[in-house]
Amino acid sequence: MKEVQQQYLSKTASKLKPSGIRKFFDLASQMDNVISLGVGEPDFVTPWNVCEAGYASLESGYTAYTANAGLLELREEISSYLSDQFSLSYSAESQIILTVGASQAIDLAFRSIIDPGDEVVIVEPGFVAYAPAVTLAGGIPVSLETKAEDEFKLTRESLEKAITKRTKAILLCFPSNPTGATMSKEELQSVTDVIEKHDLLVLSDEIYAELTYDETHYSIARLDGMKERTILISGFSKAFAMTGWRLGYVTGPEEIIAAMLKIHQYTMMCAPTIAQHGALEALQNGRDDLEKMKKSYRQRRNYLVKAFNQIGLSCHMPGGAFYAFPSIQSTGMTSDEFAEKLLEEERVAVVPGHVFGAGGEGYIRCSYATSIESLQEAVKRIGVFVERHRAE
Ligand code: PMP
Repeated sequence: MKEVQQQYLSKTASKLKPSGIRKFFDLASQMDNVISLGVGEPDFVTPWNVCEAGYASLESGYTAYTANAGLLELREEISSYLSDQFSLSYSAESQIILTVGASQAIDLAFRSIIDPGDEVVIVEPGFVAYAPAVTLAGGIPVSLETKAEDEFKLTRESLEKAITKRTKAILLCFPSNPTGATMSKEELQSVTDVIEKHDLLVLSDEIYAELTYDETHYSIARLDGMKERTILISGFSKAFAMTGWRLGYVTGPEEIIAAMLKIHQYTMMCAPTIAQHGALEALQNGRDDLEKMKKSYRQRRNYLVKAFNQIGLSCHMPGGAFYAFPSIQSTGMTSDEFAEKLLEEERVAVVPGHVFGAGGEGYIRCSYATSIESLQEAVKRIGVFVERHRAE
């Protein structure tokens, strides 16, 4: 029967590989006493006032669809928020769509700009969903490898090399999942003339914009000539600890947003109504909680990165998100071997770097969105593991 079913699958669906992250979750979930540094989500529960706003919306009978683009009141709040926090100006009426997580915004963005055969440059190591989303939209993902010696930042040279006549867009994600890399205004400025010269669109996934620990985030859309060619993607999952609410948003040039809205109308109708009411509360009264969570992530980052370097896993200091990306090259293992053996022998779950694309092999991703006690125990176990295998 299985074979019979196979024949119905589209070529695109058949060729799609399952996410390399899930495999480790599934393995880890069958074991006892596992410390997971694998998950890319806050360990905090959503702040109480936001949950209450969700309950209140149900009690008030807000159980129907919202406008396709989302509640106007929330779009207005997002517009003010982007202006206050990041000095970006977008119209609530015509330039913002609420989506089902940033994930849907990524999918919508690619589907609205890609024609068959168009290439999209993806800065890697990068979030696992980008390349499949390009493929599903009929495009061709092109890896642009960033390197530890450049602190995993995008450089002019690497960008020039990745561009061909068929390149339509570049996808950036700073602060980065999985490297935690950030890019300053000046660093972003050093690539904008290349983007303009080749007339590229920019998809900027800024879902970690609030989680920067040394410098405040600077959006590429603020730079001269960039706003009109940038689709900015963000959401509530990370900064507001709302992954399960499934709410993100996308902003950008009016024409592109209008095209995205058409696809959104037919495929999703609107983002979840309860989540939109929660998000309104998060933006209006969530800053204190956000700052508390951020302070905690900063402490954990400082602890974990120092500890990795002390046990011989060289690790750059990530400027944002909640991931450390240490090198495991001193162990001589591939990232898959390292992650599998570490889970088997010491019961610590991490994600092998290769799943994040070019430049990821030789590294592991460790999320520090977990308690400091768990991080301390994980470091102890990883230290024993590295020591044992170094001796081999
Ligand atoms: N972009 C990046 C870089 C992410 O790390 C994630 C979640 N891991 C997403 C997008 C998707 O987030 P959401 O929950 O908003 O769909």
